[in-house]
Amino acid sequence: MNMELSRRAFLRTSGAGLAGTTLGAFGFGEAEAAVAAHVKPFHLVNTVEARNTCTYCSVACGIIIFAKGDLRKGEKADIVHIEGDADHPTNRGTLCPKGAALLNIVKSETRLTQPMVRKPGSDTFEPISWDVALDKIARAMKDDRDANFIAKNKDGVTVNRWLTTGFLAASATTNETAFATYKVVRSTGMLAFDNQARV
Ligand code: SF4
Repeated sequence: MNMELSRRAFLRTSGAGLAGTTLGAFGFGEAEAAVAAHVKPFHLVNTVEARNTCTYCSVACGIIIFAKGDLRKGEKADIVHIEGDADHPTNRGTLCPKGAALLNIVKSETRLTQPMVRKPGSDTFEPISWDVALDKIARAMKDDRDANFIAKNKDGVTVNRWLTTGFLAASATTNETAFATYKVVRSTGMLAFDNQARV
């Protein structure tokens, strides 16, 4: 066996033809054997792989998204399968029940795929572009900070606080992105900063 072959590549090429006991003999865990066993033969043939992070919680498990149709060739991609990334150091191919159901999120008819805004006086949300949404958010933050920033407390001590806006960050990200997010938010003086995973 080619020792340079990654475990993920090995699982993909071996497919369902290998029984779990055989994988076990190679030193694979039960979870990876189960993944290989349940994937239908040839289900992933001609798919394009993309590595990503589970959207749900701060464990941030690595996933592989398989799509048919290659965007690089101008084709429309359709995600057909999502599984744990066996090469990812956090989860080593495993997923909890929520992560294992990620394909249902992708296919859900109620999934938000673009920013929405409810204008003043309206009772309905309307789709807007990301550019418009980001400009609106930046404008609102700037105006609020200009109006409410507290440079000094009543004793004249410099505090540089901004207490009237809060920020909720997502946990499905890398350490580096989380670090940069934290620095940007704190540099504005904002104190109300939380995370979907409460970390
Ligand atoms: S698979 Fe489960 S444990 Fe892993 S990030 Fe997703 S929700 Fe969290």
